[in-house]
Amino acid sequence: MGTAEKKGKLFIISGPSGTGKGTICKALLERNDIEISISMTTRAPREGEIHGVSYYFATREEFEKTIAEGGFLEYADVFGNYYGTPKAMVVEKLEQGRDVVLEIDVQGAINAKKVYPESVLIFILPPSLEELRARIVGRGTETEDVINLRLSKALEEMSYIDKYDYYVVNDVIDDAIIRTEAIMLAEHGRVIRDDVETMLDKYKEEKNVISIS
Ligand code: ADP
Ligand code: 5GP
Repeated sequence: MGTAEKKGKLFIISGPSGTGKGTICKALLERNDIEISISMTTRAPREGEIHGVSYYFATREEFEKTIAEGGFLEYADVFGNYYGTPKAMVVEKLEQGRDVVLEIDVQGAINAKKVYPESVLIFILPPSLEELRARIVGRGTETEDVINLRLSKALEEMSYIDKYDYYVVNDVIDDAIIRTEAIMLAEHGRVIRDDVETMLDKYKEEKNVISIS
């Protein structure tokens, strides 16, 4: 089987708000030949965010219409706003053999794993809750109330780590990026029992060509 016929892998990166998912995903995109899915959200754009790059910003009506049309691979209500992964792009890229990364919340990750059991779930942990708070405050994009809401949610989200395949502690950013890339590489070397026959086809063909007895 040639690589062109091989499906891409779906990597799902999640973890508490402020833990560094966005920073890690940005680096993954710069350093690897991968696709990052752009989500749709009803949250208001933050300063500097661009429609179609950071998110597809939508009204609740538009979002609910897409739900009704079955247009999401998964969606969730996160901190009072809808967030969802548009299905078409992800399916198309995976079919083309491209790896796709989703950066989504914990509920969404668990739902996506139900739809795509072969997806790889990676949980990004902060080195401590104190550092998590410092990062959210340092990012300067949330009000005090929103920061407290996100922090109080963090431990609850971490309790779902048993549903994940891997975790990465984001202490030193460069180490966290390398560890995430190592997981992605290792997943490409995983033996998929159902694919073994096809995997060995080219060797069987070659055996005939070079006539090994
Ligand atoms: P998330 O996407 O998980 O909400 P971000 O990637 O936006 O988190 O990171 C939150 C803040 O923490 C940002 O200001 C980012 O620059 C900073 N940050 C991310 N990783 C690290 C790290 N390893 N050490 C210090 N600061 C970090
Ligand atoms: P933020 O408002 O900080 O951009 O994102 C808030 C949370 O929503 C983060 O945990 C982020 O990972 C999550 N999120 C972003 N896009 C999606 C999505 O498409 N689906 C789900 N379930 N969560 C998402």
